[in-house]
Amino acid sequence: MFSKILIANRGEIAVRVIRACKEMNIRTVAVYSEADRTSLHVRLADEAICIGGPKAEQSYLNIPAIISAAEIADVDGIHPGYGFLSQNAHFAEICESCNITFIGPSAQSIRLMGDKIAAKDLMRKSGIPIIPGSMSAIRDKDDALKTARRIQYPVIIKAAAGGGGRGMRVCHNDVRLISALMTCQTEAEASFGNADVFVEKYIQEPRHIEFQILADKNGHTIHLGERDCTVQRRHQKLIEESPSPAVDAKLRRKMGELAVRGAKAANYASVGTVEFLLDKDGSFYFIEMNTRIQVEHPVTEMVTGLDLIKEQIRVAAGESLGIKQDEVTIRGWAIETRINAEDPTNGFSPCPGRILQYHEPGGRGVRMDTHVYAGYEVPPFYDSLLAKLITTGETRLDAIHVMQRALEEFQIEPLRTTIALHRQIFSDPTFIRGQISTDYIDRQLQLGESE
Ligand code: ADP
Repeated sequence: MFSKILIANRGEIAVRVIRACKEMNIRTVAVYSEADRTSLHVRLADEAICIGGPKAEQSYLNIPAIISAAEIADVDGIHPGYGFLSQNAHFAEICESCNITFIGPSAQSIRLMGDKIAAKDLMRKSGIPIIPGSMSAIRDKDDALKTARRIQYPVIIKAAAGGGGRGMRVCHNDVRLISALMTCQTEAEASFGNADVFVEKYIQEPRHIEFQILADKNGHTIHLGERDCTVQRRHQKLIEESPSPAVDAKLRRKMGELAVRGAKAANYASVGTVEFLLDKDGSFYFIEMNTRIQVEHPVTEMVTGLDLIKEQIRVAAGESLGIKQDEVTIRGWAIETRINAEDPTNGFSPCPGRILQYHEPGGRGVRMDTHVYAGYEVPPFYDSLLAKLITTGETRLDAIHVMQRALEEFQIEPLRTTIALHRQIFSDPTFIRGQISTDYIDRQLQLGESE
């Protein structure tokens, strides 16, 4: 087992990892940017090292600075959290070459799944349904038009190296396809350093269903059921729950088996997520695999009783899974809302600033994962996630009732946050009935402006 772990991240996930390490008796090293001196992860870790300026490139993406900190602090593992370097195969390789365990999958698995075209190809060969579309990067306009004619409009252009819901365009005709192609390629190059894009059929009004994978380095791979992440704005998740109101035991078994098969095909060993779109007619298709711990992991923890960060650390240390597939039980219901420092009434623009008044909800069925506190200054340089509010209950409706009253209690003043939006969603009969698809926020609540 590790004796000391450096957490190459910030915010709530750094706090989450530090807490798991403490409970495992592993020492922790926080790294932080000049803008994060007062952040909670810095206070909670056993040691803290400043690694650079406020911009992510100067600090949380600064590989030499992070590796130097790891060597100075003499750690034997690095946990990358999510975002930043968590899906950077090069970083994973550098860690290994410095004899520091990267707490995540192998660089090979990251690289393979990081290319959505290659990932789709591997899944297709493994017998997992994929969305019809181009099977290699789009070469030119004619290639795009030919693909669109074959699969028929609407189609979606996606970046092969894309993530975070960025770099996607839905197209309903040739003119739009041609104009969006150039934009997507340019955006993909600028955001992900890879201009490759592909075209696939746009599934209308689907649900986003993803399976949590847990795999060790000794060939054992299991799934921990699904999460439903259908409530999205512009392809970014706002609310996640487990189980899904749209998945019954039979479908869970089928999708879960295929998710495990996909992870095995990628030689996957860590926590990871296989994502699918579930169509209205009940068919489902692989969209991508995320090779990291995800923001929404707590809902799976709450219904399975497992600690996913501890499991991730154990398998990274070479331990075998302590649980078999038939021992996994899903109990009750868990829902997570992402509380962001954003103004939903103004295009979700980020609203950083100092928190003067802070009251977080508590009581039965409430879990808070956050790095903020009264007096904390939310810096403008990073993701605007302030907190994850997770509620549980015996049934979905129970978990919703706890969420309604927890959202009522929650106060973060004077910042503009997504709390009010969540209150609105949790009092909407359509959401409460669970009859939604991925366009729920953008179309039904009419909050997301069109692209
Ligand atoms: P990212 O890696 O940026 O998160 P994903 O491929 O995981 O991108 O897709 C994110 C979301 O975008 C999905 O949950 C879904 O809402 C939408 N999406 C992606 N591909 C399609 C598609 N072919 N049809 C309809 N919606 C899609």
